[in-house]
Amino acid sequence: MLLVCGCNYRKVLKLLAGGLAWADMDYQPTLTFARDLDAADPLRACRQRFLIPALPDGQPALYLCGQSLGLQPKAVRGLIEQELDAWARLGVGGHFKEQAPWYSYHELFRESGARLVGARPGEVVMMNSLTVNLHLLLTTFYQPTNERPCILIDEPTFPSDRYAISSHIACRGLDPHAALLTVQPRAGEWTIRLEDLEALLQAHSERIAVVLLNGVNFFTGQCFDMQRIAGLARARGCIVGFDLAHAAGNVPLQLHDWNIDFAVWCSYKYLNAGPGAVAGCFVHERHGQNLSLPRLAGWWGNDPATRFRMHLQPDFVPRAGADGWQLSNPPILALAPLRASLALFDEVGMPALREKSERLTGYLQYLLDRLPTGRVEVITPRDAPSRGCQLSLLIHEEPRALATALERAGVICDFREPNVIRVAPVPLYNTFEEVWRFADLLSRFA
Ligand SMILES: *Cc1c(COP(=O)(O)O)cnc(C)c1O
Repeated sequence: MLLVCGCNYRKVLKLLAGGLAWADMDYQPTLTFARDLDAADPLRACRQRFLIPALPDGQPALYLCGQSLGLQPKAVRGLIEQELDAWARLGVGGHFKEQAPWYSYHELFRESGARLVGARPGEVVMMNSLTVNLHLLLTTFYQPTNERPCILIDEPTFPSDRYAISSHIACRGLDPHAALLTVQPRAGEWTIRLEDLEALLQAHSERIAVVLLNGVNFFTGQCFDMQRIAGLARARGCIVGFDLAHAAGNVPLQLHDWNIDFAVWCSYKYLNAGPGAVAGCFVHERHGQNLSLPRLAGWWGNDPATRFRMHLQPDFVPRAGADGWQLSNPPILALAPLRASLALFDEVGMPALREKSERLTGYLQYLLDRLPTGRVEVITPRDAPSRGCQLSLLIHEEPRALATALERAGVICDFREPNVIRVAPVPLYNTFEEVWRFADLLSRFA
């Protein structure tokens, strides 16, 4: 039931139907208003599909930490049990059972994995973890030459990415300090200006082998114009890869049409597939069809037609598509949660999810703007296309104490030393009321 009063009623209905763009003046800072938005939210039933962590008093926690670990879909347990039962009943026969045979289990995600990131079937495979996939794809796509030895990354960089990329440079006998280029925010600013990235590409692209940026930066929540960057860098002869750890399941992606060369992401943040879940990787069709690309090989990357011919056909013959980068047979118990996760994304669809997400994060921004003191500063870009659902809050006084106070009040969010709190209202399971409650707590503490 919609309880918006008077003249706003019709406007809010129209906004919720997607007929108008949301602006600050369309929001109200009251709990009643937040509840009205929840009541009219077409995705409100999705929350029931998740297990929400409880506080010691049994009340649900105010979970705003989906950028770190997404919540557990209720369907996950049954899917894992299904495979445990199959293993118990069938032993090795499980490889060829009727329902979701283990032999081809990874192919269950061929379509849904591709839909999630705007790829074609065959361009995406779910395997390994993010850092492993980054290594596998850099082995193929980082081919430094004397003229082009460099990799360009964005700062701040997630530690694992920096280690992985530096180690690739070192493994080719080059000096990471010389071959690793970074684009970073200007002094006194928090996010990267596209014009600075363009200037850097203009000046140095001839020396850059690979441009490897985050789709959404883990620290600032800044979302890059991936299509534009890919166009600029590819026109200058660079290979373009993206780390989509904070973008997959968060912002709409069209990796195929944007002409991205390769991408990697993990599945435990916005994809809700569980701690250390099996990750994803994308290889553009034009590379996937190129069987002569150098790569690290294993039996699951081999053409299934010759995989078991052993000494009769000992040479590695990669299968076409992203599947050709697989190494081992898939970890069934670890992959099972992805079925629940990707089914939900298919059911809801990224456009509807993004629509709610912009509204939900927009409401959080609106409420934060109304906090009485200047203790909290949002460093994430304000315009919707330049961010996902996460807002990064710079805390000006006693950041640690504020994080502790929030935790005591039942909020689960994330504190990054020395002074940033990251909060992500996730459209699949967070509510407008939760966003209101979080801002209300902040108004008392900050
Ligand atoms: C979360 C995250 C990772 C995690 O790497 P794993 O290999 O899954 O442990 C890597 N890079 C970025 C940018 C991340 O946000």
